[in-house]
Amino acid sequence: MAIYEYYCPTCRDTFELRRPMSEATVATKCACGQPAERTISNFAVARGEGAAVAQMEPEFGASGGCACGGGGCGCSS
Ligand SMILES: [Zn+2]
Repeated sequence: MAIYEYYCPTCRDTFELRRPMSEATVATKCACGQPAERTISNFAVARGEGAAVAQMEPEFGASGGCACGGGGCGCSS
């Protein structure tokens, strides 16, 4: 499970939702009943479109943020 942030254009507000990573890109609804879009934390937004972000996600799911998954590359995570 991971926490994702979503934006409701109707409320112009953001909210967080805890859900499985496999459902991260599945559309969800705001409390107001309107569709909400997934938003990405600031650093990820700065790096580009959703496709790039999706490619990065498995790394976030690992430990510490390095793609090695811990111990493989000398990142000491
Ligand atoms: Zn809303």
